[in-house]
Amino acid sequence: MEAILERPKYECLLFDLDDTLYPFSAGINLACRKNIQDYMRHHLHIEERQVADMCLDLYKEYGTTMAGLKALGYEFDNDEFHATVHGTLPYHNLRPDPVLRTLLLSIPQRKIVFTNSDKAHAEEALCRLGLQGCFDGVICFGTLNPCNGPSAFRDGNGMLFPDETFPDSADLNESDGFRPISPILCKPSIEAMEAVTRIANVDPKKTIFFDDSTRNIASGKAAGFHTVIVGRPTLVPGADHALESIHNMKEALPEIWDGQDRSESDALLSPTAVETPVAA
Ligand SMILES: [Mg+2]
Repeated sequence: MEAILERPKYECLLFDLDDTLYPFSAGINLACRKNIQDYMRHHLHIEERQVADMCLDLYKEYGTTMAGLKALGYEFDNDEFHATVHGTLPYHNLRPDPVLRTLLLSIPQRKIVFTNSDKAHAEEALCRLGLQGCFDGVICFGTLNPCNGPSAFRDGNGMLFPDETFPDSADLNESDGFRPISPILCKPSIEAMEAVTRIANVDPKKTIFFDDSTRNIASGKAAGFHTVIVGRPTLVPGADHALESIHNMKEALPEIWDGQDRSESDALLSPTAVETPVAA
Protein backbone atom coordinates (compact mmCIF):
# COMPACT_ATOMS: atom_id res chain seq x y z
CA MET A 1 0.00 0.00 0.00
CA GLU A 2 1.34 3.39 -0.96
CA ALA A 3 2.06 5.80 1.87
CA ILE A 4 0.25 9.12 1.69
CA LEU A 5 2.41 12.03 2.79
CA GLU A 6 0.48 14.80 4.51
CA ARG A 7 1.38 18.23 3.16
CA PRO A 8 2.27 20.81 5.81
CA LYS A 9 -0.56 23.15 6.70
CA TYR A 10 1.76 26.16 6.49
CA GLU A 11 4.68 26.76 4.16
CA CYS A 12 5.89 30.21 5.21
CA LEU A 13 5.81 32.58 8.19
CA LEU A 14 5.95 36.35 7.70
CA PHE A 15 7.10 38.38 10.69
CA ASP A 16 6.83 42.11 11.21
CA LEU A 17 9.95 43.42 12.97
CA ASP A 18 9.32 46.44 15.22
CA ASP A 19 7.16 45.80 18.30
CA THR A 20 6.64 42.22 17.08
CA LEU A 21 10.03 40.53 17.42
CA TYR A 22 10.70 42.72 20.45
CA PRO A 23 8.26 44.51 22.78
CA PHE A 24 6.94 48.06 22.46
CA SER A 25 8.45 48.69 25.89
CA ALA A 26 11.91 48.75 24.30
CA GLY A 27 11.16 52.37 23.45
CA ILE A 28 12.16 52.22 19.78
CA ASN A 29 8.68 53.19 18.56
CA LEU A 30 8.38 56.35 20.65
CA ALA A 31 11.95 57.43 19.89
CA CYS A 32 11.33 56.91 16.18
CA ARG A 33 8.18 59.03 16.32
CA LYS A 34 10.09 61.83 18.04
CA ASN A 35 12.82 61.68 15.40
CA ILE A 36 10.26 61.82 12.59
CA GLN A 37 8.71 64.90 14.16
CA ASP A 38 12.14 66.51 14.48
CA TYR A 39 12.77 65.74 10.81
CA MET A 40 9.45 67.36 9.87
CA ARG A 41 10.44 70.51 11.80
CA HIS A 42 14.06 70.85 10.82
CA HIS A 43 14.23 69.39 7.32
CA LEU A 44 10.76 70.02 5.96
CA HIS A 45 10.17 73.24 7.93
CA ILE A 46 6.67 72.27 9.00
CA GLU A 47 5.28 74.52 11.69
CA GLU A 48 5.84 73.34 15.24
CA ARG A 49 2.14 73.51 16.16
CA GLN A 50 1.20 71.26 13.24
CA VAL A 51 3.84 68.59 13.56
CA ALA A 52 2.44 66.21 16.20
CA ASP A 53 -1.09 65.98 14.77
CA MET A 54 0.17 65.85 11.21
CA CYS A 55 2.62 63.06 12.04
CA LEU A 56 -0.15 60.97 13.59
CA ASP A 57 -2.76 61.76 10.94
CA LEU A 58 -0.43 60.82 8.09
CA TYR A 59 0.58 57.64 9.87
CA LYS A 60 -3.07 56.67 10.20
CA GLU A 61 -3.96 57.62 6.66
CA TYR A 62 -0.99 56.23 4.75
CA GLY A 63 0.55 53.53 6.91
CA THR A 64 3.71 55.51 7.59
CA THR A 65 4.21 59.22 8.14
CA MET A 66 6.86 59.13 5.42
CA ALA A 67 4.39 57.76 2.86
CA GLY A 68 1.94 60.49 3.84
CA LEU A 69 4.53 63.25 3.54
CA LYS A 70 5.37 62.04 0.05
CA ALA A 71 1.69 61.93 -0.86
CA LEU A 72 1.38 65.57 0.20
CA GLY A 73 4.21 66.45 -2.16
CA TYR A 74 7.11 66.91 0.25
CA GLU A 75 10.33 66.10 -1.53
CA PHE A 76 13.19 64.54 0.39
CA ASP A 77 15.67 61.76 -0.02
CA ASN A 78 14.38 58.45 1.30
CA ASP A 79 17.78 57.24 2.48
CA GLU A 80 18.48 60.54 4.27
CA PHE A 81 15.09 60.36 5.97
CA HIS A 82 15.71 56.81 7.19
CA ALA A 83 19.25 57.60 8.31
CA THR A 84 18.02 60.63 10.25
CA VAL A 85 15.07 59.03 12.02
CA HIS A 86 16.89 55.79 12.81
CA GLY A 87 20.30 57.29 13.54
CA THR A 88 19.70 58.05 17.20
CA LEU A 89 17.30 55.27 18.16
CA PRO A 90 18.04 53.59 21.52
CA TYR A 91 19.25 50.37 19.93
CA HIS A 92 21.03 49.53 23.17
CA ASN A 93 17.57 48.67 24.55
CA LEU A 94 17.41 45.72 22.16
CA ARG A 95 19.18 42.84 23.85
CA PRO A 96 20.00 39.40 22.46
CA ASP A 97 17.01 37.11 22.77
CA PRO A 98 18.37 33.54 22.75
CA VAL A 99 14.95 32.08 23.60
CA LEU A 100 13.38 33.62 20.51
CA ARG A 101 16.41 32.69 18.43
CA THR A 102 16.09 29.03 19.42
CA LEU A 103 12.35 29.09 18.84
CA LEU A 104 12.75 30.56 15.36
CA LEU A 105 15.47 28.11 14.41
CA SER A 106 13.21 25.21 15.40
CA ILE A 107 10.51 26.28 12.92
CA PRO A 108 10.58 24.08 9.83
CA GLN A 109 8.89 26.53 7.43
CA ARG A 110 10.42 29.43 5.52
CA LYS A 111 10.62 32.53 7.69
CA ILE A 112 10.68 36.04 6.25
CA VAL A 113 10.75 39.44 7.96
CA PHE A 114 8.26 41.87 6.39
CA THR A 115 8.85 45.42 7.63
CA ASN A 116 8.14 48.95 6.51
CA SER A 117 11.54 50.04 7.80
CA ASP A 118 14.67 50.23 5.71
CA LYS A 119 17.42 47.67 5.36
CA ALA A 120 19.85 49.41 7.72
CA HIS A 121 17.35 49.51 10.58
CA ALA A 122 16.27 45.92 10.01
CA GLU A 123 19.87 44.71 10.01
CA GLU A 124 20.72 46.70 13.14
CA ALA A 125 17.65 45.52 15.06
CA LEU A 126 18.06 41.86 14.07
CA CYS A 127 21.73 42.02 15.00
CA ARG A 128 21.01 43.58 18.41
CA LEU A 129 18.37 40.91 19.06
CA GLY A 130 20.86 38.19 18.16
CA LEU A 131 18.56 36.93 15.40
CA GLN A 132 21.02 36.92 12.50
CA GLY A 133 20.61 33.83 10.38
CA CYS A 134 17.14 33.03 11.76
CA PHE A 135 15.32 34.18 8.63
CA ASP A 136 15.39 33.19 5.00
CA GLY A 137 15.16 36.84 4.03
CA VAL A 138 13.98 40.33 4.81
CA ILE A 139 11.44 42.26 2.77
CA CYS A 140 11.81 45.91 3.71
CA PHE A 141 11.23 49.44 2.41
CA GLY A 142 13.70 49.01 -0.42
CA THR A 143 12.05 45.78 -1.54
CA LEU A 144 8.66 47.34 -2.02
CA ASN A 145 10.12 50.59 -3.35
CA PRO A 146 12.99 49.29 -5.46
CA CYS A 147 13.65 52.53 -7.35
CA ASN A 148 15.11 53.85 -4.13
CA GLY A 149 17.90 51.36 -3.70
CA PRO A 150 18.68 47.75 -2.97
CA SER A 151 15.85 45.57 -1.90
CA ALA A 152 15.29 42.26 -0.17
CA PHE A 153 18.32 40.70 1.45
CA ARG A 154 19.20 37.49 3.11
CA ASP A 155 20.01 38.31 6.68
CA GLY A 156 23.62 37.30 6.96
CA ASN A 157 24.91 36.96 3.44
CA GLY A 158 23.70 37.79 0.00
CA MET A 159 20.32 38.46 -1.51
CA LEU A 160 17.26 36.40 -0.85
CA PHE A 161 15.66 37.10 -4.18
CA PRO A 162 17.56 37.72 -7.41
CA ASP A 163 17.33 41.30 -8.63
CA GLU A 164 15.43 40.27 -11.73
CA THR A 165 12.51 39.05 -9.64
CA PHE A 166 11.86 42.49 -8.21
CA PRO A 167 8.89 44.19 -9.81
CA ASP A 168 9.59 47.84 -10.45
CA SER A 169 6.94 50.46 -9.83
CA ALA A 170 5.94 50.64 -13.48
CA ASP A 171 5.40 46.88 -13.59
CA LEU A 172 3.28 47.01 -10.47
CA ASN A 173 1.11 49.74 -11.87
CA GLU A 174 0.65 48.12 -15.24
CA SER A 175 0.12 44.56 -14.19
CA ASP A 176 -2.04 45.16 -11.14
CA GLY A 177 -3.99 48.16 -12.28
CA PHE A 178 -3.44 50.19 -9.14
CA ARG A 179 -1.94 53.61 -8.66
CA PRO A 180 -1.24 54.32 -4.99
CA ILE A 181 -1.92 57.89 -3.92
CA SER A 182 1.44 57.93 -2.18
CA PRO A 183 4.45 56.93 -4.25
CA ILE A 184 5.55 54.82 -1.27
CA LEU A 185 4.34 51.24 -1.06
CA CYS A 186 4.01 50.03 2.53
CA LYS A 187 1.84 48.14 4.97
CA PRO A 188 -1.08 48.23 5.56
CA SER A 189 -2.04 48.76 1.94
CA ILE A 190 -3.49 45.72 0.27
CA GLU A 191 -1.11 46.42 -2.61
CA ALA A 192 1.83 45.91 -0.24
CA MET A 193 0.32 42.61 0.89
CA GLU A 194 -0.10 41.53 -2.70
CA ALA A 195 3.45 42.60 -3.52
CA VAL A 196 4.96 40.64 -0.64
CA THR A 197 2.94 37.61 -1.70
CA ARG A 198 4.37 37.85 -5.19
CA ILE A 199 7.95 38.72 -4.22
CA ALA A 200 8.22 35.99 -1.58
CA ASN A 201 6.29 33.63 -3.84
CA VAL A 202 3.96 32.43 -1.09
CA ASP A 203 0.42 31.13 -1.03
CA PRO A 204 -1.41 33.38 1.49
CA LYS A 205 -3.60 30.48 2.56
CA LYS A 206 -0.46 28.61 3.61
CA THR A 207 1.25 31.61 5.19
CA ILE A 208 1.06 32.94 8.75
CA PHE A 209 1.47 36.69 9.17
CA PHE A 210 2.59 38.06 12.56
CA ASP A 211 2.25 41.80 13.27
CA ASP A 212 1.55 44.10 16.22
CA SER A 213 -0.52 46.53 14.14
CA THR A 214 -4.28 46.06 14.05
CA ARG A 215 -4.40 47.74 10.63
CA ASN A 216 -1.76 45.46 9.22
CA ILE A 217 -3.55 42.42 10.58
CA ALA A 218 -6.84 43.50 9.00
CA SER A 219 -5.10 44.06 5.69
CA GLY A 220 -3.21 40.78 5.94
CA LYS A 221 -6.47 38.94 6.51
CA ALA A 222 -8.02 40.67 3.50
CA ALA A 223 -5.06 39.42 1.46
CA GLY A 224 -5.82 35.86 2.59
CA PHE A 225 -3.10 35.29 5.20
CA HIS A 226 -3.58 33.38 8.42
CA THR A 227 -3.03 36.18 10.94
CA VAL A 228 -1.58 36.60 14.42
CA ILE A 229 -1.77 39.86 16.36
CA VAL A 230 1.29 40.18 18.61
CA GLY A 231 1.60 42.21 21.80
CA ARG A 232 -1.93 41.88 23.11
CA PRO A 233 -3.90 39.11 24.76
CA THR A 234 -7.15 39.41 22.84
CA LEU A 235 -8.19 39.09 19.22
CA VAL A 236 -8.70 42.11 16.98
CA PRO A 237 -10.71 42.22 13.73
CA GLY A 238 -9.06 40.01 11.16
CA ALA A 239 -6.84 38.16 13.64
CA ASP A 240 -6.98 34.38 13.92
CA HIS A 241 -4.76 34.31 17.01
CA ALA A 242 -3.51 36.75 19.64
CA LEU A 243 -0.10 36.53 21.34
CA GLU A 244 0.97 38.73 24.22
CA SER A 245 4.54 37.94 23.25
CA ILE A 246 6.14 36.34 20.22
CA HIS A 247 7.63 33.92 22.76
CA ASN A 248 4.17 32.32 23.10
CA MET A 249 4.17 31.10 19.51
CA LYS A 250 4.54 27.43 20.28
CA GLU A 251 1.72 27.32 22.82
CA ALA A 252 -0.69 29.18 20.54
CA LEU A 253 0.28 27.63 17.22
CA PRO A 254 1.64 24.12 17.82
CA GLU A 255 0.56 23.16 14.29
CA ILE A 256 3.59 25.06 12.96
CA TRP A 257 5.69 22.18 14.19
CA ASP A 258 3.30 19.43 13.00
CA GLY A 259 5.16 16.63 11.30
CA GLN A 260 8.53 17.54 12.78
CA ASP A 261 10.29 14.88 14.78
CA ARG A 262 9.26 15.70 18.35
CA SER A 263 12.52 14.64 19.96
CA GLU A 264 14.44 16.83 17.52
CA SER A 265 12.18 19.81 18.20
CA ASP A 266 12.23 19.37 21.97
CA ALA A 267 16.01 19.02 22.02
CA LEU A 268 16.35 22.27 20.10
CA LEU A 269 14.05 24.04 22.53
CA SER A 270 15.60 22.68 25.72
CA PRO A 271 17.38 25.31 27.84
CA THR A 272 20.71 23.55 27.41
CA ALA A 273 20.40 23.92 23.65
CA VAL A 274 20.05 27.70 23.72
CA GLU A 275 23.72 28.40 23.24
CA THR A 276 24.20 25.73 20.59
CA PRO A 277 25.06 27.37 17.29
CA VAL A 278 22.67 26.27 14.58
CA ALA A 279 23.27 27.06 10.95
CA ALA A 280 20.39 28.89 9.28
MG1 LIG B 1 5.36 46.67 14.07
